[in-house]
Amino acid sequence: MGDDLLTAEGLNPAQQQVLDELGSLDRPVFRSELGVDLQHNLDEALAPMMAEAPEPLFISKRQLGMLHGCEARFVADRSEPFTWSIPSARGTVAHKAIELSVAYRGNPTPLDLVENALARIEADERSLSTFIRQLDEAERAELTGRSNDFVTNFTETFPPLNRRWRPVAESSIKALLCGDALTLQGKVDLSLGYARGTEAGKVLIDLKTGHPKTADVEDLRFYALLETLKVGVPPRLLVNYYLEAGAPRQEAVTEDLLWSSAKRVVDGVAKLIALNEPNPATPNRTAGPNCRWCPINTECPEGIEQLNATYDAN
Ligand code: SF4
Repeated sequence: MGDDLLTAEGLNPAQQQVLDELGSLDRPVFRSELGVDLQHNLDEALAPMMAEAPEPLFISKRQLGMLHGCEARFVADRSEPFTWSIPSARGTVAHKAIELSVAYRGNPTPLDLVENALARIEADERSLSTFIRQLDEAERAELTGRSNDFVTNFTETFPPLNRRWRPVAESSIKALLCGDALTLQGKVDLSLGYARGTEAGKVLIDLKTGHPKTADVEDLRFYALLETLKVGVPPRLLVNYYLEAGAPRQEAVTEDLLWSSAKRVVDGVAKLIALNEPNPATPNRTAGPNCRWCPINTECPEGIEQLNATYDAN
């Protein structure tokens, strides 16, 4: 995102507000050794733990969040095979539609973009392609409608993506630590901009539905760490964009933020290894809003109490 972004015309007030908030020309410069220092520090802190791991480990932002939230949920979740559902498919379809919007000629409606995104994913060879092919007409219409709602919210409140901002949707990012023994991985919903030398320029954006949560901030800090390990220069800004409200919540990236995120990774890996076979520790249970999505919430006393309290409050 650069100077041209500040002169965009024909924006509604919501789009203009987002543009004003994200389009700052303030580009911090970071020291050139920062990425190497982070990598070295992580390798050194993790090496003794990884020596105990029987096989390579992979950690995503979701798993890291669960390890720092409720360990019992993490254990229950990893033993459940992942299956697609209409709510989980909606985000991927909508992100694909947003990606198409960057280079789509003419003036496509959100529904045009969603239908094209669905067709492209369906023709692919991913697990989601199989899920979409198996939907009946009503289920497909529901997925289309929910994705259309997501994309419409985005296009109504976010400035149209200009290709000069170098927008990338669903960008995969990985960091390899301790040789290839540990992989940190993620997928950024939307990134804009790029670094110039050691001058930060990239904005990482997570597109969210629902209410803001503390964990949303930690998720983006994790991505900022991965970006720094990959490129050597941090992003300049992290943005959780809440679609229903058209509200960006941003945080500037600092070196302290990255070191704090690195420590969170080390602590998370320690928890993960402690919970691994053959002698797993007893997982802690921490009840909270995520009990709602937990696969064992009908048998966990802490979770049942939490959910009952939530229903009573409502
Ligand atoms: S129901 Fe809640 S407290 Fe119980 S395991 Fe699941 S997330 Fe943890």
